[in-house]
Amino acid sequence: QKHVYSFGGKTADGDGKQKELLGGKGANLAEMCKIGIPVPPGFTITTEVCAAYYEQGKKIPEAAIPEIEAAVKKMEIDFGGKKFGDPADPLLVSVRSGAALSMPGMMNTILNLGLTDASVEGLAKKTNNPRFAYDSYRRVIDMFGSTAMGCEHEEFEHEIHKLKDEKGVKLDTDLTADDLKELVKRYKAVYKKHVGDDFPQDPKKQLMLAINAVFNSWNGNKAIEYRRIERISGLKGTAVNVQAMVFGNMGDTSGTGVAFTRDPNTGENVFYGDYLINAQGEDVVAGIRTPEPMAKLDSEMPKVYKQLMEIRQTLEKHYKEMQDIEFTVQDGTLYMLQTRSGKRTGTAAVRIAVELAKEGHISETDAVKRVPADSLNHLLQPQLDPKSKVKPVAQGIAASPGGATGKVVLNSAEAKEMHEKDANVKLILVRKETSPEDVAGMHAAQGILTSTGGKASHAAVVARGWGKPCVVGCDEVKIDEAAQTITIAGKTVKAGEFITINGTTGDVMIGKVETIAPSMTGDFSTLMQWADKGRKLKIRTNADSPADALKAREFGAEGIGLCRTEHMFFGDDRIAAVREMILSTTEEGRKKALAKIEPFQKADFVGIFEAMDGLPVTIRLLDPPLHEFLPQKDNKAGAEAVAKQVGTTVEKIFERVEELHEMNPMMGFRGCRLPVVFPEIGDMQVRAIIEAAIDVQKKGKKVLPELMIPLVGVLEELTMLKKRAVAVAEECMAKAGVKVEYTIGTMIELPRACIAADKIAEEAEFFSFGTNDLTQMTFGFSRDDIKGFMPTYLANKILPIDPFQTIDFNGVGELMKIGIQKGRDSRKAKHGQHLKIGICGEHGGDPDSVVFCHQIGLDYVSCSPFRVPIARLAAAQAAM
Ligand code: ADP
Ligand code: MG
Ligand code: MG
Repeated sequence: QKHVYSFGGKTADGDGKQKELLGGKGANLAEMCKIGIPVPPGFTITTEVCAAYYEQGKKIPEAAIPEIEAAVKKMEIDFGGKKFGDPADPLLVSVRSGAALSMPGMMNTILNLGLTDASVEGLAKKTNNPRFAYDSYRRVIDMFGSTAMGCEHEEFEHEIHKLKDEKGVKLDTDLTADDLKELVKRYKAVYKKHVGDDFPQDPKKQLMLAINAVFNSWNGNKAIEYRRIERISGLKGTAVNVQAMVFGNMGDTSGTGVAFTRDPNTGENVFYGDYLINAQGEDVVAGIRTPEPMAKLDSEMPKVYKQLMEIRQTLEKHYKEMQDIEFTVQDGTLYMLQTRSGKRTGTAAVRIAVELAKEGHISETDAVKRVPADSLNHLLQPQLDPKSKVKPVAQGIAASPGGATGKVVLNSAEAKEMHEKDANVKLILVRKETSPEDVAGMHAAQGILTSTGGKASHAAVVARGWGKPCVVGCDEVKIDEAAQTITIAGKTVKAGEFITINGTTGDVMIGKVETIAPSMTGDFSTLMQWADKGRKLKIRTNADSPADALKAREFGAEGIGLCRTEHMFFGDDRIAAVREMILSTTEEGRKKALAKIEPFQKADFVGIFEAMDGLPVTIRLLDPPLHEFLPQKDNKAGAEAVAKQVGTTVEKIFERVEELHEMNPMMGFRGCRLPVVFPEIGDMQVRAIIEAAIDVQKKGKKVLPELMIPLVGVLEELTMLKKRAVAVAEECMAKAGVKVEYTIGTMIELPRACIAADKIAEEAEFFSFGTNDLTQMTFGFSRDDIKGFMPTYLANKILPIDPFQTIDFNGVGELMKIGIQKGRDSRKAKHGQHLKIGICGEHGGDPDSVVFCHQIGLDYVSCSPFRVPIARLAAAQAAM
């Protein structure tokens, strides 16, 4: 087994496909070498070695050691013969982490290894640049100390700030060689204080400790948290890349930069990024000095710029994908240090995929496959209302598009806590800059605002990955953590008060701004058309109002899969009649009240049928338990209001509330059990639906109502209710002298219904899996009561994923398969018909669940209007 893969000198042992083994960074370094791009030589220690390291109790396997030594020798030759750590003329190395999936900034990188008290002198002499030599030395003491040996980076920072104050200078670059020599002394003191030992003077020892540190960082808190949020699991570990150092901090003909081959916010085909002259490594990202935009390099280093533009072309042509690159210029010579496919917003993902296809790099099918379905969320986010009167008070750098309004929160832990208490809370996290420690708070916030940092800063990169609005580098924002206030351009805002950011323009506003619904145009609509060419599964929507129905149609919905009727009961104009119906104890009384509700119901259905002209509409009959419509037991004021409203006494109301009280309403008197006991409720709903259908059909529109009876567990429930519904429908049609096509089906949301699906399909003309209830009933988890245990279940991997988010394939999914098989077989045998089956419920908009629904042969999924494009794309990807 090979532990170490060398790269350099236009060849490499590995290649770009070996991401699992070499990590993304290592695989792409190898690939770049092979296609002739200048890369400093080095080698990659595999992710398998990382796994073995942990298996052997954090020890590098013996067999890897001689391979590492040989690879160091090869690197020395490939880099022109300098020796690693040679006191007279040292070759220095970086030790860089890199897993199969990119985890930016989550793991450790150490630069300038191999420097010692002796070799720093050699480097100073050889380069004739003592300032550079000591700058490099102080950096390695800091990085090695804080990442490999547990020193606090802050303490090193403190020393450099103190020295700058003493010398009366502002920038790191203003410090002289002698200043830096002094700084090295102080850094070494910090190191010794923490570690107990001197900074190691043996380059080989440094290297081995650094390799250990990178392996350890794989299980650091930051990395673990990141993998949790990004749902990354099943990786072997991180690879370690050891690479000859090149220096961007050798003076004004040197520099370093990070760039994207296209704009990762908008997807526009422009070179996008930042660089710094006379700087090293993370300086561009860390926000220490303000970096320059890429375009300016053309005038500062025209030759290097031209070469970079060529490499940009080469990489895009080779990878057929937008790349995120890192480079360093050492004394006029360009070296590439990294390339990977770049993180981008959903908006950019769509534009890039469509343009790459139009440019002929990839096929339309590839373009469709490229865009993660969930990332469309970004294009479906509300935008700030352009007509808003709220004026911007400051402007920062537009780092991740979209608008967000929320309460100011200054601390990530607090943001996380507030979000845990109230999942709907709207927060804007305001920080000077963010670091990997902030990811949980950033995740909890609606938007992120920082006062420093550029387009490639941590905040910008992370926000973009999540499609969260973000404004960075807004230096007019001053933060006072102690006072829990910020001032924006002189105006004070307290934590907890609202501000608004526009990540598309960089604007910052005080107060709330209204948002408007997005629409589907341009590249987005092109991509969706390409997707539809491959798609098999139909996509419907869950909608209870004509407005939602129209929005969903605009997004491509092919029908309504779930129209809930209970929402219609809550309107101000009708809740009184609903309550009257519930409170009456006689059939006569109920009928009288229902007669008042009926015209409202009918009007609702007319509106929906008109909006959905020509497309099927599945209407679910009343589902929730009746007490949901009455005031709660402790709500005296509410009860008084209702008493007045329906002309009864508070006592009567509480009596009825008492009667209706259930120990477990989720499994109580609800669903089809309501019309079984009170058939008049069902009659009223069926009449409203059929009469509405007749009216709309008379206007020349095509109406396809599908009446859906919820929570059926045994055939007999359905038999009884269907018979009654057919009778009512026939009566309506006879009276009007008009026929409408309608069907009657059922929701499958009880385990028993899945098992007895063959029986139920004798009567049901269609099935719709209610996967929310089916999940509740299968697990015996009440969806509203999982807070207490679900986090622990997920943390301990007892469940891989919340089953209310993604269908539990092995349990709930198996029941669905049984239901499909039995239902379809029986319907075919008895009636010679194909049984149409779909799902409604939250899972219909979850890409992984959509893929599963495609695989098990459903006819359609139904989801909320704003998830329709996501479901369309996921369904297409499943079929391609
Ligand atoms: P990350 O995975 O966090 O991006 P990297 O391993 O890419 O970490 O290292 C961060 C930065 O360190 C690089 O962008 C580059 O500027 C610098 N760096 C790493 N290796 C070298 C090297 N061999 N020579 C010069 N700079 C390097
Ligand atoms: Mg990097
Ligand atoms: Mg249900």
